[in-house]
Amino acid sequence: MKKITVLGVTGSIGVQTVDVVYHNPNDYMIVGMSAGHNISKLEEIIEKIPVQVVCVIEKNDAEILAKKYPYIRFVYGQAGLIEIATLSDVEIVLNAIVGFAGLIPTIEAIRHHKDIALANKETLVVAGHIITKLVKEYQVRLLPVDSEHSAIFQSLQGNQNNKIKRILLTASGGSFRDKTREELVGVSVKEALNHPNWSMGAKITIDSATLFNKGLEVMEAKWLFDVDYDKIEVLIHPESILHSAVEFEDTSIIGQMGMPDMRLPIQYALTYPLRKPLIKGESLDLTKMGQLTFKKPDFKRFRALKLAYDAGIKGGSMPCVLNGANEEANLAFRNGQIEFLDIERLVEEAMNAHDWIENPSVQQLLDIDRWARDYVIKKIGESHADNN
Ligand code: NAD
Ligand code: MG
Repeated sequence: MKKITVLGVTGSIGVQTVDVVYHNPNDYMIVGMSAGHNISKLEEIIEKIPVQVVCVIEKNDAEILAKKYPYIRFVYGQAGLIEIATLSDVEIVLNAIVGFAGLIPTIEAIRHHKDIALANKETLVVAGHIITKLVKEYQVRLLPVDSEHSAIFQSLQGNQNNKIKRILLTASGGSFRDKTREELVGVSVKEALNHPNWSMGAKITIDSATLFNKGLEVMEAKWLFDVDYDKIEVLIHPESILHSAVEFEDTSIIGQMGMPDMRLPIQYALTYPLRKPLIKGESLDLTKMGQLTFKKPDFKRFRALKLAYDAGIKGGSMPCVLNGANEEANLAFRNGQIEFLDIERLVEEAMNAHDWIENPSVQQLLDIDRWARDYVIKKIGESHADNN
């Protein structure tokens, strides 16, 4: 019986993790879970599967829930999050929190010798240099949940001693993959949220449309697989069937294919190195697919991807600026405060205005993240003042 903590249990990945655990009650047990503000979803989950300790953001929510579910212990806030990420009998922490907020609980979990199943890619983007060091120091496993990285990880099994020539990181292209740059002017939030292949949380769906998601994944791949940026190639693959691949030195390309279903990489991160049946998993029928297509992304069209490569290659504090500015601009777009193309413009401006640091500490990352967010908020405020 594997004991797990799930951070961000009410989100898209969190709910699918609950589904995997629910269908395998003899294999896994969720001991700790955390949610943000979606208390009704949390209650649904608590009533569906057993759990011992639950963390929410607000103290008030924790107090109300504690009265309603006296057999569960409720904790709250950042201290609560760290508490459930470090529970003594937990073996693996699946981090499905969205954004920079996932960083500190990941660090604390590693320091308490927990294996990490990581959906929260922002953690590696901003602090890959710190996380990879800690993973070695504490000798824990860092298992990817992101579908592309799970595909790469699966392709590397049995090949640990073979050099990677190239990583082929596939991208659906998001909601606007068929639009020209001119056609992106004035697109709506509703259109952007309409992803062709995957159903995901709001932030990552917008990131898929801008291609910041793929940019974050390029950086995530760099840290997970220790490869240079010139060996990570993004391919637009609208069918989302080849989830990514690795080319080895003998030119052999090994990849992982399957229907787009996040429960597979979630489950593999939990069962690794074993494979188990995926309950209600649909087998891929290649004859029904007819054809699979691939093309190179146009960096002018997908400016965000270029910015992400630039930030990754610059390294140090730059990815943290890109990430913080993007989180804030992504939110402002969803709130109707800015246009779609303003997202990448604001991120680029923040990157240009930043005083770069080569090897930021955790505290410096916290400060830089705040700075990048404040920069974007200020710029949006100024442009609204100009328009009035
Ligand atoms: P989501 O928005 O659906 O869920 C996020 C979860 O995090 C919720 O439970 C929310 O309550 C919690 N949360 C948000 N802010 C928090 C904070 N400040 N403190 C504590 N908890 C907080 O997001 P998602 O789509 O499930 O994505 C989660 C992570 O997984 C992201 O990093 C995303 O990039 C990554 N990811 C998601 C998918 C997908 O299919 N959804 C695929 C690959 C990777
Ligand atoms: Mg992905």
